[in-house]
Amino acid sequence: MGSIIKNKYLILRRISQLTILFLYFGANAYGWKILVGNLSLSKIFDKIPLTDPFAFLQMLFAGAVISTDMLVGFIIIVLFYGLIGGRAFCSWVCPVNMITDLAAWLRRKTHHEKDNLISAMKIKQFRYWFAGILLIISALTGAAAFEFISPIGIFTRGIAFGLGFGWVWLLAIFLFDTFVLKNGWCGHVCPLGATYSIIGAKNLIRVKHNKDNCTNCGNCLMICPEPQVLTQIINKKSDFISGIECTNCGRCIEVCNDNALNFSIRNYIKGEKNEKANN
Ligand code: SF4
Ligand code: SF4
Repeated sequence: MGSIIKNKYLILRRISQLTILFLYFGANAYGWKILVGNLSLSKIFDKIPLTDPFAFLQMLFAGAVISTDMLVGFIIIVLFYGLIGGRAFCSWVCPVNMITDLAAWLRRKTHHEKDNLISAMKIKQFRYWFAGILLIISALTGAAAFEFISPIGIFTRGIAFGLGFGWVWLLAIFLFDTFVLKNGWCGHVCPLGATYSIIGAKNLIRVKHNKDNCTNCGNCLMICPEPQVLTQIINKKSDFISGIECTNCGRCIEVCNDNALNFSIRNYIKGEKNEKANN
């Protein structure tokens, strides 16, 4: 029971990710209407559209006709993650996260974790450039470039319609993350993760660090898929994790034995007041 409570966010995330896949599967196999479509474009109860924001941008750049559903779905997603979730799509929704988390776990078990932590930090900006390049390619070719190779789309469509050779691409990402680069795909390459980082830069739900409780054990840094967001703050100050690449996965909270990390809600108004009081 203790380990269930200790890993409650991890368990809830897996339930969330698997439930979403199950609902897509059920929509295709049994005609369920709870969640129809795929992670690029879906509808809840045949009424509420949800649009992958990076797919939307690619279509916009490609000059495709944007339907009202796509536009409304895009606005709903931007509002939800922009205000509340931050980059939570990556850890609570995206099925690829289950593969990359497994690779990260295997990497920790085989003691690969320290090797390229520093060099990887230098190239973590690549994903933003890659997203830009894909938008330019979309504009030049008139087609949503990333959608052809997106492991997120391959995984989701694979659950509903069969994976085909898509498993080769998913296996390649797993091997890349396990043997080549720590958190290689999600932490360096994926343009959708980069898009959610930008969308959720100012969201309200954030991990908060309590410096007084911190013993600087480093457990959180070891487990975090984006440790650069923690190094700015751990054992330095009591504050919110403000790094935009935090996925709100909650793993840092779960591995902290000193109650130095917790989810909290950013209070911009109070923050401004505090700043004025300090001046
Ligand atoms: S970075 Fe990309 S592949 Fe990884 S969890 Fe986020 S959306 Fe999915
Ligand atoms: S800081 Fe914590 S919640 Fe954010 S990505 Fe790292 S482990 Fe997850």
